[in-house]
Amino acid sequence: MSNPASVLVCGRDYPRDWNQFLDWFADDEACLSYLEQLRWPEGFVCPRCGEEAEPYRSTRGRLMCRACRYQGTATAGTMLDKTRTPLRTWFAAAWYLTNQKHGVSALGLQRVLGIGSYQTSWAMLHRFRSAMIRPGRERLSGTVEVDESYVWMRDPSKLLTGAKLKNHTSRSLVAIAVEIQAPKGFGRIRLRHVPRDSERYLLPFICEAVEPGSRVHTDGLAAYRSLSDHGYVHHRRVHLGSTDPAHVSMPGVHRVASLLKRWLLGTHQGAVQPNQLDSYLDEFTFRFNRRTSRSRGLLFYRLLEQAVMTHPVTYRRIAARKA
Ligand SMILES: [Zn+2]
Repeated sequence: MSNPASVLVCGRDYPRDWNQFLDWFADDEACLSYLEQLRWPEGFVCPRCGEEAEPYRSTRGRLMCRACRYQGTATAGTMLDKTRTPLRTWFAAAWYLTNQKHGVSALGLQRVLGIGSYQTSWAMLHRFRSAMIRPGRERLSGTVEVDESYVWMRDPSKLLTGAKLKNHTSRSLVAIAVEIQAPKGFGRIRLRHVPRDSERYLLPFICEAVEPGSRVHTDGLAAYRSLSDHGYVHHRRVHLGSTDPAHVSMPGVHRVASLLKRWLLGTHQGAVQPNQLDSYLDEFTFRFNRRTSRSRGLLFYRLLEQAVMTHPVTYRRIAARKA
């Protein structure tokens, strides 16, 4: 957590390639000690009493606090706690998930790792997605474009073709915020599934996603009218009567929306249940915001780091890091 990307070293902090991965993570004990490093980079902190002394160690990665005799492993209280799937399989899934440029489907993961059931594979992916969004992450800043776009999905629980398929597709509205860099290029993004394009849903999204004081570019939608009352420098670009198409006046959101749609249709064949959309948006955001990561291994590191995050220690560290 305290390691900014600049000091993380490929081949020391995360595996260089699959061969090194196999070397490092030969068994669950090796995985546990790696997670211990990620969870307590400055040394063990007792989750129960806060004691910071080196713990007693017993077999199978169990640690015991010298002060209060608390016992647990590095996964206690995290999303990897009490899982029946071996940690090695979790690690391999994290590696596979972060090494595929566009992500993986539950079926793909099940096949590659030889996981017993589709449900297990799906549940693993789902848990990793939930780890992809850091609690307390910083808001976007500078110049930010905000807009909404519809995405189309079909319910994967219904195997349908032809005309029937058409009747079971649904559309969902996604709010999109994109940092615009000068002179060109895009920074980070935030996405959220919203029921409607009204102020009631879009304003909270912007307030949580964008730092006050930022320049916010929107179209002429009434929902954005009060932005300047909330501390933003608001630039409205009214399309009506303008000859500029959307990809000219709002290049950032236009680009992100089309990448998102392609990703949902390509990697996931559009088979996303509407109530799961938010976790897919989290995965897309995680990938997009780390698209320039030099090594896929660094993504693996970040994903596992976030998987062993727990409140409230985590939040304090994130706040201190401001990375
Ligand atoms: Zn303790």
